[in-house]
Amino acid sequence: MTRQLVVLADAVRKISEDSNGALELYVVLDADREQLARQAAEGEDLAVQLHQGIEDVRRSVAAAPRRLPIRCISCSRLLKKGLYAVVIAAPVGPVIANGVVLAICTRCATTTSQVRARAVVALQKLWPNAQRVLPN
Ligand SMILES: [Zn+2]
Repeated sequence: MTRQLVVLADAVRKISEDSNGALELYVVLDADREQLARQAAEGEDLAVQLHQGIEDVRRSVAAAPRRLPIRCISCSRLLKKGLYAVVIAAPVGPVIANGVVLAICTRCATTTSQVRARAVVALQKLWPNAQRVLPN
């Protein structure tokens, strides 16, 4: 357990260093997944990365053991297939080299703006001074 905490702290520090103080929030609602998949299939770099991240989350949610289910970062309810959005918070740049992946259930938020607001609150647990600097 201690080892995991050290690794997480290192990962958070690395993301902090790479970000130069600014993270981009990529919000993918379940309804956006098909369009993202099409863009990824066309080879659009960012879409390929986001699509891969989203699919990793979907597989993790589906494969999570009952004793360790994956929960909403906002309310801790169990995530259910098709009933959550995924947020990737990554240092601003043309590619996503690292970042934090969050899942937020549709009971907490259904629009991109709502999801983004919940994600900022969750990210403030890692970075207490985090705040939104741009409107939607
Ligand atoms: Zn929730």
